[in-house]
Amino acid sequence: MAQIDRYLLGSIQFSSGCPCQCEFCNIPALYGRVARYKTPEQVCAELDKLVAYGLSASVYFVDNNFIPNKRAVREMLPRLIE
Ligand code: SF4
Repeated sequence: MAQIDRYLLGSIQFSSGCPCQCEFCNIPALYGRVARYKTPEQVCAELDKLVAYGLSASVYFVDNNFIPNKRAVREMLPRLIE
């Protein structure tokens, strides 16, 4: 089991995929052009789990593209702030 309390950063992915088609990027080919999202409850549960396992520093959101669906982000951010 990872010793999370020894890590400087935790990672979380809110969404996967990207609707854009930047010519240098393979994300749409690998993960699709329709972004898929976790629910705010899933994101908060993952954050709670990281904290429960000892992460006390920062969390890095590692999404391919965090904001293609602004409605999903607007729903998630208030829950994240709570
Ligand atoms: S993930 Fe970023 S670089 Fe890649 S296609 Fe989407 S917006 Fe462009």
